[in-house]
Amino acid sequence: MKRLWMILLIAGLLLGAAAPAFAGTGLPVVGIPSLWTNHHTAFAGTDSITTTEDADTKTVAPPAPAAQSAAPSPSSPALEDSSIQTAPAAQPDHAGSSPSEAVAEEKPAEAIFSASSIPALDQRQSFYIDRGEFSRYLAQLYEGLTGHPLPTGSLTYPDDVPADRADILGLCALGLWEVQADGTFALNSTVTGEEAAHLVYGIITTADPMQKKDSDTALAFLQQCGIWPNGLSLTTPLTLGQAAAMLCATAKAAPDYAPVPSPPTGKTVYLTFDDGTSANTVTILDTLKAYGVPATFFVTGQADPALLQRMQAEGHAIGNHTASHDYAKIYQSVEAFFEDFQQEEDYLASVLGYRPTIVRLPGGSNNTVSKKYGGDTIMKEITAELLRRGYVYTDWNSEAKDASGKSMTPEQIQQAVFSTVGNRDQVIVLMHQNQGKESTAAALPGIIEEFQARGYQFDVISDHSYLHPFLTP
Ligand code: ZN
Repeated sequence: MKRLWMILLIAGLLLGAAAPAFAGTGLPVVGIPSLWTNHHTAFAGTDSITTTEDADTKTVAPPAPAAQSAAPSPSSPALEDSSIQTAPAAQPDHAGSSPSEAVAEEKPAEAIFSASSIPALDQRQSFYIDRGEFSRYLAQLYEGLTGHPLPTGSLTYPDDVPADRADILGLCALGLWEVQADGTFALNSTVTGEEAAHLVYGIITTADPMQKKDSDTALAFLQQCGIWPNGLSLTTPLTLGQAAAMLCATAKAAPDYAPVPSPPTGKTVYLTFDDGTSANTVTILDTLKAYGVPATFFVTGQADPALLQRMQAEGHAIGNHTASHDYAKIYQSVEAFFEDFQQEEDYLASVLGYRPTIVRLPGGSNNTVSKKYGGDTIMKEITAELLRRGYVYTDWNSEAKDASGKSMTPEQIQQAVFSTVGNRDQVIVLMHQNQGKESTAAALPGIIEEFQARGYQFDVISDHSYLHPFLTP
């Protein structure tokens, strides 16, 4: 393949991308027609975000696919690898290329676009990307996929497009960007999730028209291929971290945009254990190990670091259940919640070496006790902000009913679980691991055996797993 010129071009684009953001008009983006018909409920978004940059650099945008919250263990066959399938590099049609081009090394697919292509990504994860910056990366992606730059068409530069921004005219020539009503491109406006889906899908299907099927919608296609970041809503602005995740996943999936195998379609149970670690955690981990099944721990407070590391090493998923678990404190306001939440995240990161992106809200996302402290809409506000920051949260659809103070026998725990399972194919079981839950730990072998007898596989909660939120913002 003759791609040296292309690599040089990309390098040039990257240098250009480090230039200061464009001063623009700040005009609202003209809506792009909806491209899909089935809006997944999880993507219902909030309209309240209007700023172009989020100054809170401590927030965590969704990880690139390489940084999944769950750490799959090679020793645990029940854990499915839901990461993006990697495929050989795109093989663009070079019928029209000149024989005088220098011969370059074949590039691996993932090198077409990598997170490191984006200047200062780690510091700007949660910043909103604007149209001007996103255009650069889309052009880069297009070149990587096709081996040639975007067509420029016959457009002339509107007033707000600098003369070196052929990428913007190229996207416009492809019908992906529209000139705004005032004749500008509103380069410093944010990009909604819906626009981002339209643009990335447009790049893929222009680069490789074979990908386009009549039944496809942009969102469905991106979801099936694992390109759509979980937790991104259609209506909220895209963060730089989310943009990076989408672009990298697109490059990795090229040229075979095969559907990823997750979430599983078969009968799957997600065993989840909440609250602080205790001696019961050891029993639970021993049982899980003996049966070779993974589970998810939503931990709170200063959980035992050795137990956290054991969970991680044995292929279990770990999620944030807040530091204090104190309703009066965390549900006072969105700010109060995230202060406490961040404290737990920092602690978990210091032990685990990564920041968990899966969350369980104390009391569940639809708890009503929070209203007393933060008003009627506090849970909607918190869940919307969690999604905006790239987290996913889940409640449950089966429970051990072991949270109340009254003592239960292991048989009663098991009975409670299976009285709430019903005929569901996707079951998320709520249990607890803290001190006093000896019966839960003792009931676990029977619970695992019964799920196995009913034909369930075991999986962990992750960015790409089945989720069961009671409340969607
Ligand atoms: Zn709890």
